[in-house]
Amino acid sequence: MFKIAVLPGDGIGIEIVPEAIKALEAIGEKFGHKFEFTEALIGGAAYDEVGHPLPPETLRLCREADAILLGAIGGPQWEELPVHLRPEVGALLPLRKELGLYANLRPCMLFPSLLGASTLKEEVLQGVDIMVIRELTGGAYFGEKHHENLMGGGEKATDCMTYTSSEIERIINLAYDTARKRGKKLCSVDKANVLESSRLWRKIAVKMAAENPDVETTHMYVDNCAMQLIRNPRQFDVIVTENLFGDILTDEASMLSGSLGMLPSASLGGQVGLYEPSHGSAPDIAGQGKANPLATILSAAMMLRYSFNLENEARLVEEAVNEFLERDYRTPDLMEAGKKLVTTAETGDIVAALIKR
Ligand code: NAD
Repeated sequence: MFKIAVLPGDGIGIEIVPEAIKALEAIGEKFGHKFEFTEALIGGAAYDEVGHPLPPETLRLCREADAILLGAIGGPQWEELPVHLRPEVGALLPLRKELGLYANLRPCMLFPSLLGASTLKEEVLQGVDIMVIRELTGGAYFGEKHHENLMGGGEKATDCMTYTSSEIERIINLAYDTARKRGKKLCSVDKANVLESSRLWRKIAVKMAAENPDVETTHMYVDNCAMQLIRNPRQFDVIVTENLFGDILTDEASMLSGSLGMLPSASLGGQVGLYEPSHGSAPDIAGQGKANPLATILSAAMMLRYSFNLENEARLVEEAVNEFLERDYRTPDLMEAGKKLVTTAETGDIVAALIKR
């Protein structure tokens, strides 16, 4: 039996998570696996109910689970709270830190039937299959922060971008393991021409490239990488980079696949993996049945692959999503003339039925 902590969160999180559960239940039925789902509060919903975005019971449930399925958190009504109580700073960052989730994996895969949904030309996109690995618990988001009023007027704010050699080594090691299972190409991204933390990153990446000769390693400055992702994304197999650069590059890469609603993610490194779509809580469409749940369903596929080692089951979920698109079903974010418009719940039902076939 696999114990799954379910954290729907806020906004569309509440709508998309049940659809991923439908897919997992369909897999359970087909292959004879038992999944036990236990739900807990996180984010704004938790703040409203118990006064903190990451209640201790939620953290305890996550620690005891075999994997975590998260929807999304946040929304305008919680943005004015003191910073430690805001959903992202008060829940998401400490959850990653507490669980030791130092690696965020975001595959950018293209479903053939969505080639036309991207803003980029089809000939640029054909064959794109990238895995971006972002360091998740170091760098500017977790470094020292200062904010002061200056004597002569004005203010000064500082975020320190700090990395230790062991933090860099463990994420690059994970990237080599990942590259070895894919196209055996790794691009390490930094800003070593300007930043001290990037100079350390580059020094370690160069040393590790020599220790991993079976994988072709390249090094790229982050500004160049941002440009290359749009110019010629096919050149990339696995990209590894630090927290802030990864945050930006993964959103950029997401646009290759047409919609944020298609991008899954896995956060790994600790005892329990956390799986969530790459997008946020989309307050603008929440509660209307318009949210695309495929990123969450594909995150559940990553859970099957990385936490439960069920590769065939993971593939079946991905194939069902592909089939759903091939049959011309579309949520509003992907809608084009001549396609069949479906709601969030209908999407989950159709994908689950395709899995069970
Ligand atoms: P967002 O990702 O929520 O939405 C950006 C745009 O994409 C919106 O127009 C939205 O409607 C659309 N969109 C996103 N997911 C979609 C889906 N599954 N189907 C269809 N359309 C989708 O980003 P935002 O608007 O910048 O942030 C909204 C809230 O989410 C904020 O409070 C932010 O802090 C939070 N957020 C949370 C996470 C997380 O939980 N990991 C990540 C990013 C943002």
